[in-house]
Amino acid sequence: MQPRFRLTADIVMSGALSPDAVESLASVVNDCNTVHFRKGAPKGVSSEEIGFIKDYSVKENTISVLILSGPYTRAHDALFRLRKHLAQALGKARLGVRNITITGFSVQLLGDVPEGLVVPRLPFIAGSRVEPGCVTLDMTVSAVDLENRIPDRIIRLLEEKIVARQYGGKGEHWDLVFESASKPRHFSGDPTEEMLKRNWVRHALSRGQWIHGPQSVRIFRAFEQIVMDEIIRPLGFTEMIFPKLVPWEVWKKSGHAKGVYPEIYYVCTPKTRDPGYWEEVGDYFKVTGEVPVDLIREKIDGPIGGLCYAQCPSFWPFLQGETLANDCLPARVFDRSGTSHRYESGGIHGIERVDEFHRIEILWLGTPEQTIDIADRLHEKYTRVFEEILELEWRCARVTPWFMAQEGLVDTTGTGGECGCGARIGTTDYEAILPYNDNWLEFQNVSINGDKYPTGFNVKIQSGEACWSGCSGIGLERWTAAFLAQKGLDGENWPESVANLVGEQNEVFRFL
Ligand code: ATP
Ligand code: ZN
Ligand code: MG
Repeated sequence: MQPRFRLTADIVMSGALSPDAVESLASVVNDCNTVHFRKGAPKGVSSEEIGFIKDYSVKENTISVLILSGPYTRAHDALFRLRKHLAQALGKARLGVRNITITGFSVQLLGDVPEGLVVPRLPFIAGSRVEPGCVTLDMTVSAVDLENRIPDRIIRLLEEKIVARQYGGKGEHWDLVFESASKPRHFSGDPTEEMLKRNWVRHALSRGQWIHGPQSVRIFRAFEQIVMDEIIRPLGFTEMIFPKLVPWEVWKKSGHAKGVYPEIYYVCTPKTRDPGYWEEVGDYFKVTGEVPVDLIREKIDGPIGGLCYAQCPSFWPFLQGETLANDCLPARVFDRSGTSHRYESGGIHGIERVDEFHRIEILWLGTPEQTIDIADRLHEKYTRVFEEILELEWRCARVTPWFMAQEGLVDTTGTGGECGCGARIGTTDYEAILPYNDNWLEFQNVSINGDKYPTGFNVKIQSGEACWSGCSGIGLERWTAAFLAQKGLDGENWPESVANLVGEQNEVFRFL
């Protein structure tokens, strides 16, 4: 979209302008329009595309200006260049800039406007008009907002929304990388139903939450053992513990703050831990047997953040602001210290799409080449595990969310710049067929995240090369659902090594 800006402002000086000062002002305005504003604008662009002081007037100590621009030396940038040159020129007359009040700021965006485009609701946008070929925004902004480039970010946001509309419901690019041969199937039911029948799992009291009984957990632990023996140890990953309560500070840096809101489990803190302040809440429960949720809502602060959504963001503050020695790279760690939580709403199903789940997260970082190499080696190891140990029917595919393609984070042309690395940024999903409904279930992924996290958390490497990272989330519920859906719940039909690892189950509970 081609932007057009119109800005009016009052520049308040420390004193009234003398006739001499007014003359200096005239020459500052002229120099700005003919020289200063042209700096940085490409040669050959027409003059209405560059910032221009269209009009100005002086009344006592106040200079009122009207600045117009296209995309180059945008009106707000022009205003600050003017301020700088004013300060220099009028400094001689002992006049300084006291204050700038923005009295009007509007932007027109010219170009294709998709149908149904909705202008974001933001406190800075006082009014808007959407017409074919043009979006007009009237903004209420202060000089500080302009210095923080709020209008530029609003334009970028609007452009993202336009692209989102153009992609429509397309979701992701999906390119098959590998599909296994068919394997022996021993079951055609829904594994969760069967696990329930056998009391391997029971519904917990929160939505999308299960209590995993001993048999289910033996399967989880067997899979963890396979991951440890076949993948984590041979590839040299070391265990860490990543926090599971994630403050906004982390999600601001990881980028999740851009859009994770519909799926977060929010976390709040009490306004005070004074027992007297909370007494009425407990008393209400004692008398009614109900928890007074509205009353609690009045007594808490926040939310301060949410429960773990993706496991790796919480790791990065460990490295924040650091430069890593070459000889510790590629750095390789993993976490399996707690649950992940997502509000899946109506999507919950069985043990495999739940609001509380268990995942091993593998994370690595280094140069782009090292990061890609680890991802490739992980893929080889996973292939061995799914083919030879679990004997699954599975496939994997490169998936690219449209917004990543749009942000230039992924080179969808496949050339990937000079080194070819850029083409590898993105996610590979691993999926298994569920015979009972013939759907493919994503049970894990491997992502090459480029410099997203190192940049967000300001992490550098000694050699000065780009720092990249990758991560792989192994969902234990999903592995279990995939395996049981194909092989059934009877150990005699399982590949021998899996059956041996799971072993025989002592009877812990007998229900009457
Ligand atoms: P889906 O498209 O199935 O919702 P996703 O793209 O949201 O999956 P990711 O964000 O890539 O999943 O999460 C990585 C891994 O975490 C998944 O491969 C899966 O193993 C696990 N996972 C994600 N959401 C859930 C869930 N609701 N229940 C169980 N496991 C999950
Ligand atoms: Zn991750
Ligand atoms: Mg999901």
